[in-house]
Amino acid sequence: MSYAEEPFRTNIVLVSVTDLESEVKSLKAELDKVKEDQRKVSEEAAKRIEGLERALSWLNVVRSQAVWKSRTCRYANNGICDAWNVSDPERVGVPKDAVIAVEGPFKKVDLQKFPEICAVCPLYEVRK
Ligand code: SF4
Repeated sequence: MSYAEEPFRTNIVLVSVTDLESEVKSLKAELDKVKEDQRKVSEEAAKRIEGLERALSWLNVVRSQAVWKSRTCRYANNGICDAWNVSDPERVGVPKDAVIAVEGPFKKVDLQKFPEICAVCPLYEVRK
């Protein structure tokens, strides 16, 4: 049987235009929702980034003040604070690598490694 003699077989599926319109509307609504969700996520991320940048700026201000105080305080002696003796440095937030053991149970703070301790120190007095 030649190609021309084959019986005509249709593979056309009739689809309702209304159904197609409905499907397109549904997909458009889903796409709009995805876009809206994405916009909200982007806004939230931008707000968080702005908050982190502000916090970072604030920390930089605090750190620069702390470094200045650690260099000008009368109790800073060769980069070590002579005023504070801490028995449990980690409990008060002094990192291990900034602790210098001295005689007895107390420890001193290495200001070059942890000048932040000077930031809010009530004992600060300018060196004269
Ligand atoms: S500001 Fe406070 S922590 Fe810093 S050196 Fe002076 S006394 Fe020590």
